[in-house]
Amino acid sequence: MTSPIDPHAGFRAELRSFFRDKVPADLRARLRSGLRPTPREWTEWQAVMHRQGWGAPTWPVQYGGTGWSAEQLYVFEQEAARADAPVQFHQGLELIGPILFTYGSAEQKARFLPRILSGEDWWCQGYSEPNAGSDLAALRTSAVLEGDHYRVNGQKLWTSFAREASMMFCLVRTDASLRKQDGISLLLIDMQSPGLRIRPIRTLDEHYHVNEVFLDDVMVPAANLVGEEGKGWTYGKVLLKRERGMTAILGLRLARQLEWIAELAGQTPAHGGTLAQDPVFAHKLAQLQIEVMALDTMGQRTVADVMAGLDSGLRGSMLKVRWSEILQRSTELWVEVVGDAAHAFAPLGDAAQLDAQPAYPMPGPMNAYLHSRVTSIYGGANEIQRNIIAHRALGL
Ligand SMILES: Cc1cc2nc3c(=O)[nH]c(=O)nc-3n(C[C@H](O)[C@H](O)[C@H](O)COP(=O)(O)OP(=O)(O)OC[C@H]3O[C@@H](n4cnc5c(N)ncnc54)[C@H](O)[C@@H]3O)c2cc1C
Repeated sequence: MTSPIDPHAGFRAELRSFFRDKVPADLRARLRSGLRPTPREWTEWQAVMHRQGWGAPTWPVQYGGTGWSAEQLYVFEQEAARADAPVQFHQGLELIGPILFTYGSAEQKARFLPRILSGEDWWCQGYSEPNAGSDLAALRTSAVLEGDHYRVNGQKLWTSFAREASMMFCLVRTDASLRKQDGISLLLIDMQSPGLRIRPIRTLDEHYHVNEVFLDDVMVPAANLVGEEGKGWTYGKVLLKRERGMTAILGLRLARQLEWIAELAGQTPAHGGTLAQDPVFAHKLAQLQIEVMALDTMGQRTVADVMAGLDSGLRGSMLKVRWSEILQRSTELWVEVVGDAAHAFAPLGDAAQLDAQPAYPMPGPMNAYLHSRVTSIYGGANEIQRNIIAHRALGL
């Protein structure tokens, strides 16, 4: 409802009618059922947003951003969640994009930023390696400058959507003689480069979205080095902070998910009434709703800080831990509502099907529940976030 005392009433009305008209009904239904968009749907949605001029809500205007205030951004996210619109795919938009407009060369900005906005490029993140996850600075993939190219050799692991990606932003070791953090650089690698090979990894939720990426004598133009050689660790850390801070807006999505769960419980017979009337269920739901409200409040403060260019301190780590834990409990409750039907399961079968789009062979809530397991691991495992909070906030 727009309100006469809502200072953003006009903006809210514009957003509401946009989302009402533009979110495809089948995509809306799929999200409400607990499934994620396919890469194709995500790309199409990015193009829709771009045509509207909202391709990069958080970017500065000069690079194609909206110039919205933190409050406007929050209203935008509220309306997107309310309309069950997909969250825009973040790896180009929120991870490498801001690094490029902050540290990239003029040529890199001109070449890559517009293609992120339009959805023409899909970026993947080549950070983790075998034995270099939590201890990321231990990474060993090497890049040796030969004339105007780097020769890259090594392996990346858990690279999300590597098969869909056209480009990878990749941390590489350019000097093995220095302190390990100082010898790391950030390279932009074309996924079609000769010598680059991808092997998908099958996961519990039956997606093939994570991969191993092997790099054997891959030649990368030196012009694709971001910023200065040896500064990759600094840029990489900025990016990791941003990745954690991005959960700031996700409280709204969690609140929406709880509404879907409540709705479903209201239609589910139990003990002569509905599950929504069951006091044990109602208690669990209310507890989650309260925790989501608190999370969302912290998220709003973080968005305001990030938009004002302030360091959000440890809130990124705190949000990441709380968001992932609540998401895991929320999806568990969802599975509880679905009951036995959540077990229905059709395995994807053999490797011949690897090239198919994700087939989502199981009911949405179970898929969401299983996928939520990864949120306490990726973007820096929760144990590591707790170490950061203990060390920096509590001085332990
Ligand atoms: C679904 C998924 C998608 C991912 N996508 C990407 C991607 O696109 N790009 C990318 O680069 N990476 C990606 N990752 C990798 C992710 O960032 C790492 O898995 C994560 O950083 C943990 O590293 P690891 O798997 O090597 O585990 P490890 O670092 O070996 O950790 C194993 C366990 O030990 C704990 N542990 C480790 N060190 C400590 C410590 N000092 N104190 C306390 N506990 C500790 C960890 O918390 C964890 O529980 C993804 C991971 C997953 C699961």
